[in-house]
Amino acid sequence: MSKEIRIIRCLKDNYAFLVHDPATDAATLIDAPEADPILDALDRSGWRLARVLLTHHHWDHVEGLSGILDKHPAPILGNRADRERLPALDHAFTPGDALMDGGCKVFDAPGHTLGHVAFHFPGLEALFSADSLMTHGCGRLFEGTAADMFATIARFAKLPADTRIYSGHDYAAANLAFAANYAPDADALAARQAELPQLAEKGLPTTGTTLASEKALNPYLRVHLPEVAESAGRPGATPLEVFAEIRRRKDAA
Ligand SMILES: [Zn+2]
Repeated sequence: MSKEIRIIRCLKDNYAFLVHDPATDAATLIDAPEADPILDALDRSGWRLARVLLTHHHWDHVEGLSGILDKHPAPILGNRADRERLPALDHAFTPGDALMDGGCKVFDAPGHTLGHVAFHFPGLEALFSADSLMTHGCGRLFEGTAADMFATIARFAKLPADTRIYSGHDYAAANLAFAANYAPDADALAARQAELPQLAEKGLPTTGTTLASEKALNPYLRVHLPEVAESAGRPGATPLEVFAEIRRRKDAA
Protein backbone atom coordinates (compact mmCIF):
# COMPACT_ATOMS: atom_id res chain seq x y z
CA MET A 1 0.00 0.00 0.00
CA SER A 2 1.40 3.36 -0.92
CA LYS A 3 1.49 6.56 1.06
CA GLU A 4 -1.66 8.61 1.18
CA ILE A 5 -2.20 12.36 1.23
CA ARG A 6 -5.19 13.77 3.08
CA ILE A 7 -6.14 17.37 2.23
CA ILE A 8 -7.78 19.24 5.12
CA ARG A 9 -9.66 22.50 4.73
CA CYS A 10 -8.99 24.97 7.54
CA LEU A 11 -10.10 28.51 8.39
CA LYS A 12 -11.62 30.36 5.45
CA ASP A 13 -9.39 29.21 2.60
CA ASN A 14 -6.34 27.43 4.05
CA TYR A 15 -5.22 23.87 3.48
CA ALA A 16 -3.29 21.56 5.78
CA PHE A 17 -2.05 18.14 4.71
CA LEU A 18 -1.51 14.77 6.33
CA VAL A 19 0.90 12.37 4.65
CA HIS A 20 0.30 8.86 5.93
CA ASP A 21 2.80 6.02 5.77
CA PRO A 22 0.88 2.74 6.06
CA ALA A 23 4.04 0.78 6.87
CA THR A 24 4.39 2.58 10.21
CA ASP A 25 0.91 4.15 10.53
CA ALA A 26 2.74 7.44 11.08
CA ALA A 27 1.27 10.65 9.72
CA THR A 28 3.18 13.83 8.94
CA LEU A 29 1.23 17.07 9.22
CA ILE A 30 2.20 19.94 6.95
CA ASP A 31 1.18 23.26 8.52
CA ALA A 32 -1.37 23.74 11.28
CA PRO A 33 -3.79 26.55 10.40
CA GLU A 34 -6.59 25.38 12.69
CA ALA A 35 -6.83 22.62 15.31
CA ASP A 36 -10.40 21.28 14.99
CA PRO A 37 -10.46 20.09 11.36
CA ILE A 38 -7.00 18.54 11.74
CA LEU A 39 -7.96 16.80 15.02
CA ASP A 40 -11.06 15.55 13.28
CA ALA A 41 -9.02 14.12 10.39
CA LEU A 42 -6.64 12.41 12.84
CA ASP A 43 -9.52 10.98 14.87
CA ARG A 44 -11.37 9.64 11.86
CA SER A 45 -8.25 8.08 10.31
CA GLY A 46 -6.86 6.70 13.55
CA TRP A 47 -3.40 7.69 12.30
CA ARG A 48 -0.56 8.43 14.69
CA LEU A 49 0.81 11.95 14.36
CA ALA A 50 4.58 11.52 14.01
CA ARG A 51 5.72 15.08 13.24
CA VAL A 52 4.65 18.53 12.11
CA LEU A 53 6.48 20.31 9.27
CA LEU A 54 6.09 24.09 9.07
CA THR A 55 6.42 26.02 5.80
CA HIS A 56 6.57 29.53 7.29
CA HIS A 57 5.78 31.59 10.36
CA HIS A 58 2.51 33.32 9.37
CA TRP A 59 -0.24 32.85 11.96
CA ASP A 60 -2.60 31.11 9.53
CA HIS A 61 -0.06 28.28 9.14
CA VAL A 62 0.76 27.73 12.83
CA GLU A 63 -2.29 28.87 14.81
CA GLY A 64 -3.69 25.36 15.38
CA LEU A 65 -0.45 23.84 16.69
CA SER A 66 -1.03 23.91 20.45
CA GLY A 67 -4.57 22.54 20.15
CA ILE A 68 -3.31 19.66 18.03
CA LEU A 69 -0.23 18.87 20.12
CA ASP A 70 -2.28 18.82 23.36
CA LYS A 71 -3.99 15.69 22.07
CA HIS A 72 -1.31 14.34 19.71
CA PRO A 73 2.15 15.23 21.04
CA ALA A 74 4.66 15.27 18.18
CA PRO A 75 7.88 17.07 17.30
CA ILE A 76 7.72 20.35 15.37
CA LEU A 77 10.19 20.81 12.51
CA GLY A 78 10.97 24.15 10.88
CA ASN A 79 13.58 26.29 9.17
CA ARG A 80 16.56 27.12 11.37
CA ALA A 81 16.80 30.57 9.78
CA ASP A 82 13.30 31.42 11.06
CA ARG A 83 13.52 29.79 14.46
CA GLU A 84 13.12 33.12 16.29
CA ARG A 85 9.65 33.68 14.88
CA LEU A 86 8.40 30.11 14.38
CA PRO A 87 6.79 28.27 17.31
CA ALA A 88 9.42 26.50 19.48
CA LEU A 89 11.04 23.89 17.24
CA ASP A 90 12.04 20.39 18.31
CA HIS A 91 14.16 20.05 15.19
CA ALA A 92 15.54 22.92 13.11
CA PHE A 93 16.48 22.02 9.54
CA THR A 94 18.27 23.88 6.78
CA PRO A 95 16.98 24.08 3.20
CA GLY A 96 18.64 21.30 1.22
CA ASP A 97 18.29 18.86 4.14
CA ALA A 98 16.61 15.52 3.66
CA LEU A 99 14.09 14.54 6.35
CA MET A 100 12.31 11.29 7.18
CA ASP A 101 15.11 9.00 5.94
CA GLY A 102 15.22 10.82 2.63
CA GLY A 103 11.46 10.65 2.06
CA CYS A 104 11.20 14.44 2.24
CA LYS A 105 13.55 17.05 0.86
CA VAL A 106 13.43 20.67 2.07
CA PHE A 107 13.47 23.31 -0.65
CA ASP A 108 14.41 26.90 0.03
CA ALA A 109 11.37 28.90 -1.16
CA PRO A 110 11.80 32.60 -0.30
CA GLY A 111 9.56 35.31 -1.71
CA HIS A 112 6.38 35.29 0.36
CA THR A 113 8.58 35.37 3.48
CA LEU A 114 12.37 35.08 3.56
CA GLY A 115 12.35 31.88 5.63
CA HIS A 116 9.63 30.14 3.62
CA VAL A 117 10.38 26.52 2.68
CA ALA A 118 8.63 23.86 0.61
CA PHE A 119 8.63 20.09 1.17
CA HIS A 120 9.23 17.71 -1.71
CA PHE A 121 8.26 14.07 -1.26
CA PRO A 122 9.87 12.40 -4.31
CA GLY A 123 8.31 8.99 -3.59
CA LEU A 124 4.87 10.60 -3.53
CA GLU A 125 5.56 12.91 -6.48
CA ALA A 126 4.27 15.73 -4.27
CA LEU A 127 5.48 19.23 -3.50
CA PHE A 128 3.96 21.05 -0.53
CA SER A 129 4.59 24.63 -1.61
CA ALA A 130 2.33 26.63 0.76
CA ASP A 131 2.46 30.31 -0.25
CA SER A 132 5.25 30.11 -2.83
CA LEU A 133 4.06 28.40 -6.02
CA MET A 134 0.26 28.27 -5.74
CA THR A 135 -2.53 26.78 -7.83
CA HIS A 136 -2.50 28.97 -11.00
CA GLY A 137 -0.52 31.68 -9.20
CA CYS A 138 2.09 32.49 -6.57
CA GLY A 139 2.10 33.99 -3.09
CA ARG A 140 2.33 37.69 -2.31
CA LEU A 141 5.81 39.14 -1.86
CA PHE A 142 5.63 40.24 1.77
CA GLU A 143 9.36 40.03 2.48
CA GLY A 144 11.21 38.75 -0.54
CA THR A 145 11.68 40.32 -3.95
CA ALA A 146 10.30 39.29 -7.31
CA ALA A 147 13.78 37.86 -7.99
CA ASP A 148 13.51 35.65 -4.88
CA MET A 149 10.14 34.21 -5.92
CA PHE A 150 11.29 33.89 -9.55
CA ALA A 151 14.26 31.78 -8.39
CA THR A 152 12.01 29.72 -6.08
CA ILE A 153 9.60 28.91 -8.89
CA ALA A 154 12.45 28.21 -11.32
CA ARG A 155 13.70 25.55 -8.88
CA PHE A 156 10.28 23.90 -8.77
CA ALA A 157 9.96 24.03 -12.56
CA LYS A 158 12.75 21.42 -12.79
CA LEU A 159 10.80 18.80 -10.81
CA PRO A 160 9.18 15.92 -12.74
CA ALA A 161 6.11 17.02 -14.73
CA ASP A 162 3.82 14.62 -12.84
CA THR A 163 4.67 16.24 -9.48
CA ARG A 164 1.51 17.40 -7.73
CA ILE A 165 1.67 20.89 -6.27
CA TYR A 166 -0.12 21.27 -2.93
CA SER A 167 -0.35 24.94 -2.00
CA GLY A 168 -1.52 26.43 1.27
CA HIS A 169 -4.68 28.24 0.15
CA ASP A 170 -7.67 27.85 -2.09
CA TYR A 171 -7.17 30.84 -4.36
CA ALA A 172 -7.62 28.83 -7.55
CA ALA A 173 -10.69 30.63 -8.93
CA ALA A 174 -9.30 34.14 -8.46
CA ASN A 175 -5.87 33.07 -9.69
CA LEU A 176 -7.34 31.42 -12.78
CA ALA A 177 -9.40 34.50 -13.64
CA PHE A 178 -6.21 36.56 -13.43
CA ALA A 179 -4.11 33.97 -15.31
CA ALA A 180 -6.61 34.04 -18.18
CA ASN A 181 -5.23 37.48 -19.12
CA TYR A 182 -1.67 36.21 -19.60
CA ALA A 183 -1.84 33.88 -22.60
CA PRO A 184 -2.41 30.51 -20.90
CA ASP A 185 -2.81 27.39 -23.01
CA ALA A 186 -6.35 27.79 -24.37
CA ASP A 187 -7.42 24.14 -24.04
CA ALA A 188 -6.07 23.83 -20.51
CA LEU A 189 -7.82 27.08 -19.55
CA ALA A 190 -11.18 25.98 -20.93
CA ALA A 191 -10.93 22.61 -19.18
CA ARG A 192 -10.05 24.16 -15.84
CA GLN A 193 -12.73 26.87 -16.15
CA ALA A 194 -15.24 24.04 -16.56
CA GLU A 195 -13.80 21.97 -13.73
CA LEU A 196 -13.48 24.55 -10.93
CA PRO A 197 -17.23 25.20 -10.45
CA GLN A 198 -17.78 21.42 -10.28
CA LEU A 199 -15.13 21.08 -7.57
CA ALA A 200 -16.71 23.97 -5.65
CA GLU A 201 -20.16 22.42 -5.90
CA LYS A 202 -18.89 19.12 -4.52
CA GLY A 203 -16.75 20.84 -1.86
CA LEU A 204 -13.61 19.22 -3.30
CA PRO A 205 -10.16 20.80 -2.98
CA THR A 206 -8.63 22.75 -5.83
CA THR A 207 -5.04 22.12 -4.80
CA GLY A 208 -2.95 19.21 -6.05
CA THR A 209 -2.69 20.14 -9.73
CA THR A 210 0.29 18.71 -11.60
CA LEU A 211 3.37 20.73 -12.46
CA ALA A 212 2.59 20.00 -16.13
CA SER A 213 -0.85 21.59 -15.83
CA GLU A 214 0.58 24.57 -13.96
CA LYS A 215 3.07 25.03 -16.79
CA ALA A 216 0.06 25.33 -19.12
CA LEU A 217 -1.88 27.79 -16.95
CA ASN A 218 0.25 29.51 -14.33
CA PRO A 219 1.69 32.77 -15.71
CA TYR A 220 4.62 32.70 -13.26
CA LEU A 221 5.82 29.43 -14.84
CA ARG A 222 5.41 30.86 -18.35
CA VAL A 223 7.28 34.18 -18.14
CA HIS A 224 9.89 33.00 -20.67
CA LEU A 225 7.23 32.78 -23.43
CA PRO A 226 7.00 35.71 -25.89
CA GLU A 227 3.18 35.69 -25.83
CA VAL A 228 3.19 36.03 -22.05
CA ALA A 229 5.64 38.97 -22.18
CA GLU A 230 3.41 40.52 -24.83
CA SER A 231 0.26 40.08 -22.75
CA ALA A 232 2.01 41.75 -19.80
CA GLY A 233 2.83 44.76 -21.96
CA ARG A 234 6.56 43.92 -21.81
CA PRO A 235 7.53 42.43 -25.21
CA GLY A 236 11.23 41.64 -25.32
CA ALA A 237 11.67 41.96 -21.54
CA THR A 238 13.61 39.34 -19.57
CA PRO A 239 11.65 36.54 -17.88
CA LEU A 240 12.36 38.14 -14.48
CA GLU A 241 11.04 41.52 -15.68
CA VAL A 242 7.89 39.85 -16.99
CA PHE A 243 7.51 37.96 -13.72
CA ALA A 244 7.81 41.16 -11.67
CA GLU A 245 5.34 42.98 -13.91
CA ILE A 246 2.69 40.24 -13.64
CA ARG A 247 3.13 40.01 -9.86
CA ARG A 248 2.83 43.83 -9.62
CA ARG A 249 -0.38 43.74 -11.66
CA LYS A 250 -1.82 41.02 -9.41
CA ASP A 251 -1.09 43.16 -6.35
CA ALA A 252 -2.92 46.06 -7.99
CA ALA A 253 -5.86 43.91 -9.19
ZN1 LIG B 1 1.71 33.25 4.54
